[in-house]
Amino acid sequence: MDRIIVEGLPFVPYITHERIEAEVERIASRLREDLKESQPIFLCVLNGAFVFAADLIREIGLTDSKIQFVKYSSYEGTSTTGTVKQILGLNEDVEGKDIVIIEDIVDTGLTAEKMIADLKKKNPRSVRFVTLLHKPDNARSDFKPDYVAFTIPPKFIIGYGLDLDGKARNLRDIYVIEEE
Ligand code: IMP
Ligand code: MG
Repeated sequence: MDRIIVEGLPFVPYITHERIEAEVERIASRLREDLKESQPIFLCVLNGAFVFAADLIREIGLTDSKIQFVKYSSYEGTSTTGTVKQILGLNEDVEGKDIVIIEDIVDTGLTAEKMIADLKKKNPRSVRFVTLLHKPDNARSDFKPDYVAFTIPPKFIIGYGLDLDGKARNLRDIYVIEEE
């Protein structure tokens, strides 16, 4: 892994794919145990969580589970706009169901808060929140994810689904912006 340039900005290696895999296995075994009596609906938050969600649901291995996709947007470039917009909603009835939201990263927590509020109006039985990354220092709400793979400082990162203006989602490893 080497220093890379994306959209003119320098990034350096931060979390290797091997470490990501180990965390995916750890969280998957907790979820497998916590959901063993249930037929959950996983809710993958597009676009960023698609890589993590694909690995996680296969590792959990509950064939009776389903996956749905929702899309919210708050970021422009490397910072949040503070306003969360829903771009794609749910098309499945979640009343009485166990829901597991799968996110790439919780930063301010505003997206998570909005999503959970929207979801609770549809009367699910339970809502769990899984995130690959958590930046608690940027929190602008009291929201706490239930399952976190990596807690990180408030620096901008890309790779493994996370983007800079839509680019770099393909990288297997996670990279952090290089500071001068
Ligand atoms: P929040 O509403 O501030 O918690 O923002 C969550 C969303 O912002 C995530 O789902 C990402 O799409 C995006 N985001 C936050 N931090 C980063 C980052 O470091 N890299 C790429 N996207 C990020
Ligand atoms: Mg996202």
